[in-house]
Amino acid sequence: MTLETKTDRPQEIETFDVFDLRPEILEGIREAGFRAPSPIQQEAIPLILAGRDVIARAQTGTGKTAAFGLPAMSLVKRTGSVDVLVIVPTRELASQVSDELYRLGRYAGIRTVAVYGGQSIERQVTLIRRGAQVVTATPGRLLDHLKSQRLEGFAPSIVILDEADEMLDMGFLDDIEQIFKYLPEARQTLLFSATLPPAIRQLSKKILKDPISIDVTPKGGAKTNIDITQRYYVLEEREREEALVRLIDTESPTKALIFCRTKKETDMLCTTLVSRGYAASSLHGDMQQRQRNEAIDSFKKGRIDLLIATDVAARGLDINDVTHVFNYHIPFDTESYVHRIGRTGRAGRKGTAITLVTPLEFKKLTRIMHVSGAPLVYEEIPTINEAKRQYQNELMGKLQHQHIQEEAVELLQRLEEEVDLPQIACKALSMLLDRQPVGGPSRIGFSTQEVERMLHRSKRRKGGGGGVKRRSYRPPRTRHHKRSSSN
Ligand code: ADP
Ligand code: MG
Repeated sequence: MTLETKTDRPQEIETFDVFDLRPEILEGIREAGFRAPSPIQQEAIPLILAGRDVIARAQTGTGKTAAFGLPAMSLVKRTGSVDVLVIVPTRELASQVSDELYRLGRYAGIRTVAVYGGQSIERQVTLIRRGAQVVTATPGRLLDHLKSQRLEGFAPSIVILDEADEMLDMGFLDDIEQIFKYLPEARQTLLFSATLPPAIRQLSKKILKDPISIDVTPKGGAKTNIDITQRYYVLEEREREEALVRLIDTESPTKALIFCRTKKETDMLCTTLVSRGYAASSLHGDMQQRQRNEAIDSFKKGRIDLLIATDVAARGLDINDVTHVFNYHIPFDTESYVHRIGRTGRAGRKGTAITLVTPLEFKKLTRIMHVSGAPLVYEEIPTINEAKRQYQNELMGKLQHQHIQEEAVELLQRLEEEVDLPQIACKALSMLLDRQPVGGPSRIGFSTQEVERMLHRSKRRKGGGGGVKRRSYRPPRTRHHKRSSSN
């Protein structure tokens, strides 16, 4: 099969009004505050409205949900039975995508239901029977419903696979192939993905008919968003925690996602950060759904500013104002790196992605840089003095905006009888400074020169054409670090 590929980019379109979307859908778009359609939306919307099958690739955070959701909901028949089925990899995405579609479709009277495991089966079935036109489901639970024939007359005319690469990564290929056996032959099928590995193309041959392929990833191979500043820091294993804390303090993120490798590590790091005075919560698959929703909600509403998560739990999460993504450990592969950092810099905002690596992980890092084309730059971890200065600057800002309490005025009058004013001020400031979490050795991590030498070595090895010698890296000079407990 040859894929018809759209290469001729339409001119920049500045409004959604040019599309043949239903007026009620346009109202939803206005209400959501979208002004211009994003590139993937510009290309996908007319094709989907024209009834074509589409295979679409675009980076994360580029508005894929609306790209399929708007035209699909415009085409919905008002019969009161399910007409659009969206299949997504995780529970979190099921509710997130369902909410976004509800928001955009509500003026058109569209009802949406999210269907995923860990939730009452009866309730889901009741909601669907009451006349939902759009169902967003995870593969496992959907297949369960279909196999046990709980959804009579379930025949969506538009079926969308969202975040298809993630679903295959998570091992849902079998489930998806089975699901399609229950779906009507006469249907429109859309496949959306951030990357298109061969397995996805294989799958698309089976389930799509004569599809048009659109690809709006920027040329030059860089798969990551230009709005994200990407930095890495090289350090020793035992410096990881202190380095993270120092970077959090100097970066002062308003919302940061911190990625760990395992559920256990996630919990441990969360406990540490909370005990050091940060508003943090963890997010992973061993938590109950209610707890997971609570953590995400607290993060969204700003009750906590650090969310410590595993890859799986944070997949596809769309939280608009995440300012920072921290890779506490380097991710296993390039795809997860791209997905992780895609949690920031969303919808045109700026973001920062920070990766901590040890010399042993350095090779993995250079591979990620090479494969993704991601522009990662090295930086030294701020010294303790730099971190302190930053803390003090913030303190000064806060002091200037601090509201003065009546009781404080009275207290000052009493104090002034015994101590003079500058002394009182210095004592009060010392009390505040005592609270600063910054601690540890003055310098953490490797210097620019040391890292340059490592980079040089890894280039030389590659250039040599021979196999890479298995030799653990030894830092150029011995480094003595004292651990100090800073609590
Ligand atoms: P993706 O699936 O490509 O990762 P999403 O569909 O989750 O991206 O969209 C990312 C964010 O951008 C969402 O919060 C969405 O509401 C917002 N968004 C989508 N389209 C537009 C648009 N045309 N204008 C402004 N914001 C948009
Ligand atoms: Mg998406």
